[in-house]
Amino acid sequence: MTPSYPPAGPPRRVAVLSVHTSPLEQPGTGDAGGMNVYISQTATEMARRGISVEVFTRATSSDQPPVAELAPGVLVRHIPAGPYQPLDRSELPAQLCAFTSGVLRAEAFHEPGYYDVIHSHYWLSGQVGWLARDRWGVPLVHTAHTLAKVKNAALAEGDVPEPRTRVIGEEQVVTEADRLVANTAVEARELVSLYGADPRAVRTVSPGVDLDRFTPGSRARARAALGLPGDAVVLAFAGRIQPLKAPDVLLHAAAELSRRRPGLRERLVVLIVGGASGTGLEQPAALRELAASLGIAAQTRFLPPQPGEALVHVYRAADVVAVPSYNESFGLVAVEAQACGTPVVAAEVGGLPVAVADGVSGLLVPGHRAADWADALAAVALRPGRRAELAANAVRHARRFSWRRTTDALVATYTEAARAFRDALARALREEVAV
Ligand code: UDP
Repeated sequence: MTPSYPPAGPPRRVAVLSVHTSPLEQPGTGDAGGMNVYISQTATEMARRGISVEVFTRATSSDQPPVAELAPGVLVRHIPAGPYQPLDRSELPAQLCAFTSGVLRAEAFHEPGYYDVIHSHYWLSGQVGWLARDRWGVPLVHTAHTLAKVKNAALAEGDVPEPRTRVIGEEQVVTEADRLVANTAVEARELVSLYGADPRAVRTVSPGVDLDRFTPGSRARARAALGLPGDAVVLAFAGRIQPLKAPDVLLHAAAELSRRRPGLRERLVVLIVGGASGTGLEQPAALRELAASLGIAAQTRFLPPQPGEALVHVYRAADVVAVPSYNESFGLVAVEAQACGTPVVAAEVGGLPVAVADGVSGLLVPGHRAADWADALAAVALRPGRRAELAANAVRHARRFSWRRTTDALVATYTEAARAFRDALARALREEVAV
């Protein structure tokens, strides 16, 4: 058989694997979050450059068309694998064979060499990508988004550890992938030290932010749009409601603040935006109960997951956006908030020290003690001069990130992975002929 080589230049067509969640879903609830935004933004940017992208995701409803257009040049293929309903992530490994078969069948309708590169997101997709890579003879680029070993080392109290099967699955993907894309240098080091990745295969690519959508604007108008009083002190959280994201830490800190400053109670608003996700503290109902037991039920407002255009109002309305996560591979919310001119108080974990410039565009808090969080929130939200300085820097800091730049780096990674793949294939053929 004559081998088909991936092209020497940038790819023409990319197969993106996103088994457990679709870029068409609303982020901020269930399994949909930063990864969905990442895939849809980078795919759209690639398509603008003439690179077609096809995203393969599991069909979760019989109403979904087999193929849907996300943007011109970006298709989402819904692959039947298991029942037409959402499945818990823990149930998905049993569906990977069916999913892989669907992906291979979809490709078989095309001429050989249709896709030039595979980019898998999250370990479940990596498992599929590794087999597709071998069948199609193109490189596999993988982004983990989160790593079980890292997550398990920093679990929130009462959270359920990631299973050993995931750790093993991740180790296999790390060994098999041609390139591993890490969000930050910290994650790149974790891939090497915890998973034995070959450092030569790891590329660090910063995620981006939509700088056209997330822009500074009038705080008064944003508060009016959300029905919040103009003179309120607004502390906001946006994201999936799950123990790892720790919205409860914000509630404890807000309660601590209002104990310290009873005069603040009238003006304090804690705004929690997002829907249920994950394990343990998964119901926003549990957060409502916590707010009530802390005596700040009247000050706490809940909003369901918001589309990006509405999230802009949340970020602009807030005095501070809090990102108290126990782990965060990057933290898109932190950068989006800063792009809107709002300083961020974030946990000093994972990628957040990259997303937030400590003391410049916001504050980083070591640990999750309510008293420390109350100190940091007060140091920003209750000091207008300091807040204004951080806000101006926040906008500048956020401009360091953009999906265009992320896409530049991804395309460069695909291109050099294909070149290395071609070279390896040519070497193997020469050796075969020599024998
Ligand atoms: N998000 C959203 N609506 C919401 C809450 C969050 O669209 O109500 C989006 C948010 O804009 C961000 C993503 O969900 O782009 C969350 O990404 P992040 O990296 O902060 O967290 P992850 O979900 O990856 O853990």
